[in-house]
Amino acid sequence: MESPELSFTLAYIAFSVCFVFTPNEFRSAGLTVQHLFSSWLGSEDVGFVQYHVRRTSVTVLVHCSLPLGYYIGMCIAAPEKNLGYLYEVTTYHVYMASQSECHVTVTESRQHQLSPDSASPTQILTLRVASINPAVRPFDISLNSTEYAELREKLHAPIRNSANVVIHQTISELFLETFKAQVELNQPYTLPNGQEVEPCIGCMQVPANTKLVRQCHAEGADNESECQRCFCRPMWCLSCLGRWFASRQDQQRPETWLSSRVPCPTCRAKFCILDICVVR
Ligand SMILES: [Zn+2]
Ligand SMILES: [Zn+2]
Ligand SMILES: [Zn+2]
Repeated sequence: MESPELSFTLAYIAFSVCFVFTPNEFRSAGLTVQHLFSSWLGSEDVGFVQYHVRRTSVTVLVHCSLPLGYYIGMCIAAPEKNLGYLYEVTTYHVYMASQSECHVTVTESRQHQLSPDSASPTQILTLRVASINPAVRPFDISLNSTEYAELREKLHAPIRNSANVVIHQTISELFLETFKAQVELNQPYTLPNGQEVEPCIGCMQVPANTKLVRQCHAEGADNESECQRCFCRPMWCLSCLGRWFASRQDQQRPETWLSSRVPCPTCRAKFCILDICVVR
């Protein structure tokens, strides 16, 4: 089966070779540096030296940025592949380290009162990414502490906490642990023969490993308070479904969350925590 990243890579290589060596077809289509930047380059007849200084500079710049153009295209063609790398983008650098080769350590924590109306200050963590590959320089990434749990989950390596920073997570992130433990107690769901697990449509980074199957026997006084049948195929991972579940609750009363019903994020059929099955 053809993969989107392979098709994109081949197409991009063909495009780059043609763009750099400009065959006649590219010239007549106007796909040359001279043509694309003609208004900025000015006229060759009026200012010959200036024109060629500009032309060579812009050619070098454009050709050098072809790999970055490739990277951006790859993000669009195959977003789930980006999981393999950690990035830090600054004005003049893109730092990148392969997850399988790097150690991530929490080195610092700062508190910021970002807005006067937020009740608690925002905690910003500094994480140092060091690679075992000597060619990759260590770099720092900054992260809101409420996003820490998500990063930890998506990373294939453990995060060390050298500074013994107490990380402030949101109630939703803390709830996620309880939510997952509870769902693990439910019956698993076996995919029908021939059906493949797709990537989660929430994060596109892990397989969609949950299926809603009405398991509870809650008898409500009316239809409103009952769970309903969901016919959706597995589309969400357990973490995304847990975050959705938490987001639909009364944020002031976390003690009621586990016993509440929420609509399926796709078809809106109501479900409770007993109806969530992990796909095996
Ligand atoms: Zn997900
Ligand atoms: Zn559904
Ligand atoms: Zn239910």
